[in-house]
Amino acid sequence: MSCKYIIVTGGVTSSLGKGIICASLGKLLAARGLRVTIQKLDPYINVDPGTMNPYEHGEVYVTNDGAETDLDLGHYERFLNVSTSQKNNVTTGRIYYDVISKERQGAYLGQTVQVVPHITDEIKSRVRAIGDTGEYDVVIVEVGGTVGDIEGLPYIEAMRQLRYDVGRKNTLSIHLTYVPYLKAAGELKTKPTQHSVKTILEIGLQPDILVCRAEVPIDRSIRRKIALFCNVDDEDVIASLDAPSIYEVPQLMLDEGLDRRVIERMELQASDEPDLVNWNKFLDAVKYPGKEIKIALVGKYVEHKDAYLSICESFIHAGAMNDCKVELSWVQSDDLTAKNVESKLKGVSGILVAPGFGGRGVEGKLHAIEYARTQKIPFFGICLGMQCAVIEYARNVCGISDANSTEFESSASNPVIDLMAEQKKISELGGTMRLGQFECKLNEDSKARQAYGEQVIYERHRHRYELNNAYVEQLKSSGLKITGVNPATNLVEIVELADHPWYVGVQFHPELKSSVKEPHPLFVKFVEAAVDYAQDHELIKNLPGRKMAEQV
Ligand code: GLN
Repeated sequence: MSCKYIIVTGGVTSSLGKGIICASLGKLLAARGLRVTIQKLDPYINVDPGTMNPYEHGEVYVTNDGAETDLDLGHYERFLNVSTSQKNNVTTGRIYYDVISKERQGAYLGQTVQVVPHITDEIKSRVRAIGDTGEYDVVIVEVGGTVGDIEGLPYIEAMRQLRYDVGRKNTLSIHLTYVPYLKAAGELKTKPTQHSVKTILEIGLQPDILVCRAEVPIDRSIRRKIALFCNVDDEDVIASLDAPSIYEVPQLMLDEGLDRRVIERMELQASDEPDLVNWNKFLDAVKYPGKEIKIALVGKYVEHKDAYLSICESFIHAGAMNDCKVELSWVQSDDLTAKNVESKLKGVSGILVAPGFGGRGVEGKLHAIEYARTQKIPFFGICLGMQCAVIEYARNVCGISDANSTEFESSASNPVIDLMAEQKKISELGGTMRLGQFECKLNEDSKARQAYGEQVIYERHRHRYELNNAYVEQLKSSGLKITGVNPATNLVEIVELADHPWYVGVQFHPELKSSVKEPHPLFVKFVEAAVDYAQDHELIKNLPGRKMAEQV
């Protein structure tokens, strides 16, 4: 079977959850035995989101091969439990960069280089580069942005041409749209959807299936109206109602028949029913936890939760493994002082200090870490969180009162965290961090070794600074344990404390590897330690759990 392409566009407004719909459809098709991957096409001019502010773009998701990509790729990996790569995220910046470089090399000698055909050809070649590998039965191509955006036009045109190139039966066009409910009129309005479909039709890409996001159920007559005015069959109008959790969306799409219609229309050979046994077990654990605990997430982008998306999802996966709902208490690190740290962290059973860049909020993070260390509250430091843990330990335990990172104080006299050697000669900022998956060897006697159950692990990175090896002996002799090291470079990857219930700092990003099928072991163990702490300190909230599930 040659590869088939599902093109997903969005209309009316952004933030309709296109990424979740794509991931859910991908999940359903994979659960029917098909080999599926997803590609995200982003119409912005940045080569990748790595240079964007987390407030602007949310989290930057890093793949095994070191690509800095859109956070939707995280949804795909978490839902499908597959690895994506550089190829799975295409941006306008990257397309133009390559086309212009080729033009300079003389690849288009004699020609006028234009949006059509050169840019559109380049877009198509990126899509085909995945489809033509023979590794997949289906590629879901998610076109970012909203139909009608100027910058999205070349992508829609490229998708229109792709249908011709690979044959209509080998492609399917799904348009995600919004059907607002007007309270005053007491009804759902189809006009925005009609306009959106008209706009995409102007370019010539007829949607085959409409996924209609709505806050109230869409009845038959509204579906018929949408079908009539948008040239689709009644059963190709799929409702997508708000769900309490993104993990419920695959079931909602299954109930609406989205996967069935896709399979029928594309004549895919797939099993009759999706195998969702394990997925549903996970979902049950998420919906009906037996207990609840609170964990603080200390960071400086807390107003914009998408900046920590993978961490939030990792807690959902790890919570399900522990039959526990993890309620996150969002703590703005800017606001934390020595005086208020106790009151701000009251009632939490674990403290996670988040990744980040720059000096803002660092002093607050140090207070949170000191509090976790001295009060023996389970602590998890990720990337900058780990670096801050080292600074805190150096200052308050080793007695190096001016210990710092050269990221915040370039001429620090005690740079316990310093720029990595290979970073010192780099001047460009785009795509130049230590990125992607690297090996880490674990010490036998460590929390990390217990959690992973393996001695050699591979984790993803995104940083420029490192624990300065010149300070390792001093830190160790004061009690900081170095429990994970990269064998090739000797870079410290994990620090721990012995006389503490659970204190682990990691230079890498474990949150990028947690999936529904394989919750990340460090998150699982951190939550387990937090549950123990909560039990000992009467901070646990008992919930009806499975009993409730059985009554439903
Ligand atoms: N700013 C730190 C560095 O570049 C940490 C980065 C991070 O937390 N991802 O090393």
